[in-house]
Amino acid sequence: MRRQRFDLVALVQEIFELLEQQAGRRGTTLTLFPTPLPEAGLPVVADRNRIRQVLINLIDNAIKYGRETGGQVVVSLVAGRESVRVTVRDNGAGIAPEHQARVFERFYRVEKSRTRAAGGTGLGLAISKHIIEAHKSNIRIKSAVGEGTAMEFKLPRPKEVRV
Ligand code: ATP
Ligand code: MG
Repeated sequence: MRRQRFDLVALVQEIFELLEQQAGRRGTTLTLFPTPLPEAGLPVVADRNRIRQVLINLIDNAIKYGRETGGQVVVSLVAGRESVRVTVRDNGAGIAPEHQARVFERFYRVEKSRTRAAGGTGLGLAISKHIIEAHKSNIRIKSAVGEGTAMEFKLPRPKEVRV
């Protein structure tokens, strides 16, 4: 792991640009909260490349498994005193309670036929969980069938910006 200080706002914006065509093909909108964004950005201390990989997987999942039409993917960044809480939310089909813990297992995919058509290997969340745990944090899932899914984790703020 290579911990460094970087701006989460800029990272999410960079990933939105990377995934905007994929989202556009499905008519899915990508939104970053809060608006207006903090002018100074939201610095955190973490391994930028690995957090980038986590966010790409979570946002890719939110697009792929989100609603077929009228999909909305919202990434929100909420600063607390010591950390920033990152939430990736979609308004898709959701994940039933009995699958919620298992989606973090390697190769586990819900509803094989539908998810196989969406491509992927079933490794993204297992890798994401591993990376977030290496940062001494946890990925939490909140999901309701028919409403959507939210994935959430926290990253530490640099000490000098804490108030
Ligand atoms: P990969 O990430 O390796 O390309 P994948 O997206 O299928 O493949 P994971 O990211 O690990 O693998 O997700 C595991 C499974 O969890 C998915 O196949 C899907 O069934 C389910 N899943 C993940 N995210 C969501 C979501 N936002 N809404 C509904 N189901 C989801
Ligand atoms: Mg995935």
